Amino acid sequence: MTDTELRVSKIQDGTVIDHIPGGTALHVLAVLGIDGSGGEEVSIGMNVPSDRLGRKDIVKVEDRELSADEVDVLSLIAPQASINIIRGYEVSEKSRVSRPTEVVGVLSCPNVNCITTGDEPVDSVFDVLDDGVRCRYCDTIVRDDVASLIEST
Ligand SMILES: [Zn+2]
Repeated sequence: MTDTELRVSKIQDGTVIDHIPGGTALHVLAVLGIDGSGGEEVSIGMNVPSDRLGRKDIVKVEDRELSADEVDVLSLIAPQASINIIRGYEVSEKSRVSRPTEVVGVLSCPNVNCITTGDEPVDSVFDVLDDGVRCRYCDTIVRDDVASLIEST
């Protein structure tokens, strides 16, 4: 049993997100809308040595299972992440994230003149490209820092 498996097995019920790019765990928490105010028990391992990624982050959230929407957005900032749903100390489901074709209402457009950033109640829609995301309303493309577009909750 590896070190990682040991750490994973300690959680009773919840979600373990593994193979997050090193140093981006806080973005993952932002995606999940977790800032500590909800009282969730959250453990974060940052820059843990990893064979596959060199350095990786691990996030464990007790008593929380990720929704499909959350997994979609997660895939944009942590495309190699693996998600372990834990029930009764056992890994009940294990999956890799997959990239969605679009994300709705989660990212905010960086273009201040975009209709989605005004007062109109328009949900943002971004098409997912191979190397970034594109606003469907104004065609603004963001490649490098998708995580910065995540709407604060
Ligand atoms: Zn836009």
